[in-house]
Amino acid sequence: MAKKTIADVDVRGKRVLMRVDFNVPQDDKGNITDDNRIAKALPSIQHVIKNGGRLILMSHLGRPEGKDRATDAPYTIKPAADRLAQLLGKPVRFSPEAVGPEAEKAVAALKDGEVLMLENVRFYEAEQIKDKKAKEDPALKAKKEAFAGQLAAFGDVYVNDAFGTCHRDNASMLTVPQQMTGKPRVVGFLVEKELQYLGDALNSPKRPFVAILGGKKVSDKIGVIEALLGKCDTVLIGGAMNYTFMLAQGRKTGGSLVEPDKVEEAKRLLQLGGAKLKLPADVVAAKELKAGAATQVIEGDIPDGVQGFDIGPKTTAEYKKIIAAARTIAWNGPMGVFEVPPFDKGTNEIAQALVDATAKGAITVIGGGDSASAIEKAGLSEKVSHVSTGGGASLEFMEGKPFKAVEVLDNK
Ligand code: AMP
Repeated sequence: MAKKTIADVDVRGKRVLMRVDFNVPQDDKGNITDDNRIAKALPSIQHVIKNGGRLILMSHLGRPEGKDRATDAPYTIKPAADRLAQLLGKPVRFSPEAVGPEAEKAVAALKDGEVLMLENVRFYEAEQIKDKKAKEDPALKAKKEAFAGQLAAFGDVYVNDAFGTCHRDNASMLTVPQQMTGKPRVVGFLVEKELQYLGDALNSPKRPFVAILGGKKVSDKIGVIEALLGKCDTVLIGGAMNYTFMLAQGRKTGGSLVEPDKVEEAKRLLQLGGAKLKLPADVVAAKELKAGAATQVIEGDIPDGVQGFDIGPKTTAEYKKIIAAARTIAWNGPMGVFEVPPFDKGTNEIAQALVDATAKGAITVIGGGDSASAIEKAGLSEKVSHVSTGGGASLEFMEGKPFKAVEVLDNK
């Protein structure tokens, strides 16, 4: 069911508590190396400011795991608050606590159209207490609820615009909106778009519907392969997971990355998929993983001493043909080691094929994580229908797992 969005709420004069995903990559000195996640939240943030709401932002950054804030200083979210101020062209207040007296004072001082960023919610152990653990241990439950209660008290309206964390039951994602029953609880524009593309577009796809799955491990993607085999007309496999499938077919994989303990699962998927599940006809292999390494194209068994690092030209040509004929395409996981040229060729060509398909009217959805990085690296992210901001979240969503943090929000 469609969720209410921030556009459905009158925010004027209200305290809008918004969970964003400002978990930005930083270098050793704490400089933000990519502010895409902040930029993606701007439409929701600007909407609240423009409409006279008092915006309180909360987010996690990294994995401080509730350690001491003094020793965990590199995890402060202050740099993200500063970058947001730059992008907005207006000041962003900062509270060095997410809850407690200082945070309460900062919230109370907030005026219409102003923005306050609370410190990293993961400085508090309660944020990441899993509901399963909380059910077994009343002390943990009380701790999580007390923390969430303090945050919930800050808001008249709750907004979830943190798609990358929507598959988690963190306090700021789930317990807070649970405690705000009776108040408006809605999605932001970023989450709205993610739900539209990953949900609606892939659940009632225009056909043919083709999924492309790559990446390192088949173990990470068994669930999603299985779910997509039930929905798609064709599932194309690339990346290192191909080699575990090759083992399952009784073929040799040389020194390629394999997961021998997943061979039985791979056999099961091959049987389940039948002709729908397509494996690469050839691979690009080399003796070592090095930029500019000498390569060979191999069809069939991969001999000892070499490793497969990309899909081969025959596979690329075949996959491109299938993509060109598709009307909905979902892609998750690179076709090869796209970080090291020339092993980026298969991934880049598939990315371009998706761009061409988009130009001809196909719906193209790229899962987050490495496939999003690959398409960004190729400079093509604006030329597909949607690039998800969630790595794990986009996979779990495509797998059809329920997202409690979204379910709890108001329906249209
Ligand atoms: P994942 O996180 O599972 O989507 O995997 C992404 C990673 O898989 C990227 O860092 C790629 O370099 C890596 N990868 C893709 N193909 C291969 C391959 N043939 N051998 C080793 N690593 C690969």
